[in-house]
Amino acid sequence: MAGEPQADCLFCKIVAGEVPATVVREDEHTVAFRDINPQAPTHVLVVPKAHYPNAAALAADPGLSAALLAAAGEVATQEKIDESGYRIVFNTGAGAGQTVFHVHAHVLGGRGLQWPPG
Ligand code: C5P
Repeated sequence: MAGEPQADCLFCKIVAGEVPATVVREDEHTVAFRDINPQAPTHVLVVPKAHYPNAAALAADPGLSAALLAAAGEVATQEKIDESGYRIVFNTGAGAGQTVFHVHAHVLGGRGLQWPPG
């Protein structure tokens, strides 16, 4: 069923507390933790607690999509990158660099960010 935890999913295990992560924010529907391989001074991943493989699948749940975006914005404020500017990225599909197939928003900031991205 959509949203159910997946036994082989790393981020479902982080949500369940079975794999350690540096959690910076949590609410009823989302968890935010520091990326283990940061690409910017601030690099936080925000995930829904429910399992959806990517952003396109998450769109089936508009309320949860909104909660995830709101959580990403709150992380940016908490990390004090909201005024300098930051990027929210959803790599979607292996061809775009997605390696963990539990939807996650990368919140990146604390340095100048180039456009277009690589
Ligand atoms: O968009 P993509 O799927 O490639 O992002 C996955 C991210 O998860 C990577 O930035 C990687 O560093 C991060 N990661 C993590 N903790 C893990 C495994 C991966 O923060 N235990």
